[in-house]
Amino acid sequence: MIISRQKPLEELLYSLKEYNKIFLVGCGECATTCKSGGEPELLKMKADLEAAGKIVLGICMPGAPCVAPQIKTELAKNIKVLRDCQAVLVLACGLGVQSVKENDRLGLAVLPANNTLFGAVMDAQGNFYEKCSMCAECVLGETGGICPVTLCPKGLLNGPCGGMNKGKCETDNEKDCAWVLIYRELEKKNKLDKIKDIHKERDYKKSSRPHKLIMNK
Ligand code: SF4
Ligand code: SF4
Repeated sequence: MIISRQKPLEELLYSLKEYNKIFLVGCGECATTCKSGGEPELLKMKADLEAAGKIVLGICMPGAPCVAPQIKTELAKNIKVLRDCQAVLVLACGLGVQSVKENDRLGLAVLPANNTLFGAVMDAQGNFYEKCSMCAECVLGETGGICPVTLCPKGLLNGPCGGMNKGKCETDNEKDCAWVLIYRELEKKNKLDKIKDIHKERDYKKSSRPHKLIMNK
């Protein structure tokens, strides 16, 4: 899932300074889970904006605003109200904001309420951890399921580097060295021979941005 956090209210009010009539869009998926764009956050945003003198004319909560059919349906349902609005504030990640902008037929100002942080897994306590940088060439099969591209600040495919100290990373002695974690994991699985495999350098062309995957023409 994509993790996002709400921007400070002062920053939002500054970005909304030219607009008075606002429409709010939330996200029923990731932003609901990380509490940056679910129903409670939409209602709080409405109250905060109204307290600051703005008029919130409407709110919608698509399942996932980053999915065109879902946001199109919500915008179409609210088209009358949207015609009276000057700006749409989107409480979702940057994908949701851009998808709203691309599917808004009225040419409204579409603004982000959130900062988008990282792709993450969530633990049982509801904490989020970045585990994958979406490099397009996964090596988890050779690294005991631990991602060096993400967990090693240098993204080393063959490690550890000379800076590793007593199992900790040279960039932060509170953090375990990714390659020590990989070593321990391979040892646990009786696969330590894999640590000697030299991984070829990544083909950075595969991770050049922006990516696209055309499924239907
Ligand atoms: S190697 Fe790491 S960054 Fe690349 S796809 Fe696998 S988990 Fe993601
Ligand atoms: S100490 Fe380990 S995690 Fe830190 S930069 Fe070197 S190889 Fe990467």
